[in-house]
Amino acid sequence: MATPVTPGPSALNPVGDLWSGGPQCPPDPPPETKQLPELIRLKRDGGRLSERDIRSFVRAVVDGSAQGAQIGAMLMAIRLQGMDLEETVALTQALANSGQRLEWPEAWHQQLVDKHSTGGVGDKVSLVLAPALAACGCKVPMISGRGLGHTGGTLDKLESIPGFTVIQSPEQMQGLLEKVGCCIVGQSKELVPADGILYEARDVTATVDSLPLITASILSKKVVESLSALVVDVKFGGAAVFPRQAEARELARALVSVGAGLGLRVAAALTAMDHPLGRSVGHTLEVEEALLCMDGAGPPDLRDVVIRLGGALLWLNGLAEAQAEGAARVAAALDDGSARDRFERMLATQGVDPGLARALCSGTPAQRRQLLPRAREQEELLAPTDGSPWLRVHLDAPALSDPQRRALQGALVLSDREPFTAPSPFSELILPPTDAQQ
Ligand code: URA
Repeated sequence: MATPVTPGPSALNPVGDLWSGGPQCPPDPPPETKQLPELIRLKRDGGRLSERDIRSFVRAVVDGSAQGAQIGAMLMAIRLQGMDLEETVALTQALANSGQRLEWPEAWHQQLVDKHSTGGVGDKVSLVLAPALAACGCKVPMISGRGLGHTGGTLDKLESIPGFTVIQSPEQMQGLLEKVGCCIVGQSKELVPADGILYEARDVTATVDSLPLITASILSKKVVESLSALVVDVKFGGAAVFPRQAEARELARALVSVGAGLGLRVAAALTAMDHPLGRSVGHTLEVEEALLCMDGAGPPDLRDVVIRLGGALLWLNGLAEAQAEGAARVAAALDDGSARDRFERMLATQGVDPGLARALCSGTPAQRRQLLPRAREQEELLAPTDGSPWLRVHLDAPALSDPQRRALQGALVLSDREPFTAPSPFSELILPPTDAQQ
C-alpha cells in the first residue's frame, strides 16, 4: 500500500504541512485570478507579477478579452518597471505555451539549432546562416520576426521575393526540414500567437527597448522550436536597440540565463552595430547582398558575422571541435555553393516559383536585380570633394527631400587616412552555464 507523503516546503507553502493524522482543515481556496486593471496597477507600481498573473495576462491577450489599451498599458508598465528573472522566465513560458510546441523525430535531436538577432540595420545574417547551417548537416526550424522599431525584419526581406510564404504549418515545417534542412517562418495562430500580438503592440507603443520583453519575445519562439542549441546575436551601437555595450551585455546575460531556466542552451554574441551590416539596406537589396554572400563574395563584415555565429553554434552543439573549425565549415558552405543550393530549395519549397528560385540563385547580380521588385526611382548622392557617387538611394517617391538629403550626407565622412578596413563587428561570446554550473 502506498504510504501517504506530506508535501515538503515550497515557495507557495514555505513551512510545509504537518501530518496530524486528525481531522483535516479545508485547503486554502485557490487565490483569485486578478482582473487586468489590477495586474497593470501592480506592475505600474513596481510590484512583482506571479506566474499565475502572467499566465492570465497572456491568456487575455490571446483570447481577445484584453483591450488594446490594456495591452499597451501593461507593456509600458513592464518597460518602465522591468521584470526579474523569474517573471521573465514565466512570461517566456506563457508566450511559448500560447501555441503549439514543435516536435521532431528523435534522430534529429542533436542537429536542431537556430540563430536570432535582437535587430539591426542591414542585418541579413539569418538569410545566409539558416541555409549555411543546413548545408553543414543541421536542422534549422527558424521562427523569425518582422521589422521592429527602426530595425529590419527577416520575414519582410524574404517576402520581397515574389511568392515566398512565411506562414507554414508545423507539418509543412517538418517537411521543409526533411527536404531542405531549414525553413524561415513567421509566428502564426499555431506558433506563439501571443508573441505576434505583443510584437505588433510594442512596435506602436514605444516599448521595443525593454530587456524582459525582448528576452521573452525571442526565447518564446525558440522554446517552441525544441532546439538543441541557439545563438543570439545581440547588437550594440548607434543603430542597435541598446546602443551601449554594457546594456547589450545585460540583455545577452538575460537571454543566456532565461534560456538556461527553460532548459534551452543559449549562447549570446555581442556584435557592433554602429553602421549598417554590409553595404545595402532595404528588403530586395538585402536579399541580393545575402545571395552575394552565398556566392562566397559580398561584404567582409557580413561574411564575418555569418561564419562566426555559425562556428559558435556548430561548436556549442558538439558538431565541431572548436569555434574556428565550425567557422571554417560554414565558410566552406558559402564558398562551394552548398548554402546557396539550400537557399534555392528553401525558396522553392516555401512558395517561390522553382524557375524564379533557380534564376535568382544562379544569376549574376545584374540578372538578380531584374528578377526582384524595384523601387521606382534611384537618386545618387555625391561625395563633397571629388564628385563621384557614394550613396545610391532607391525610392518610390519622386525625390528625396532636402532634410533627408542633408541627413544622409551628414552620415558619411570622407577621410584622407589609409584605406579603411572595417574591424570585425564580433566582440564577445557569452556562453551558457555548463551542466556542472546549473
Ligand atoms: N526579435 C524578436 O523576435 N523580438 C524582439 O523583441 C527583438 C528581436
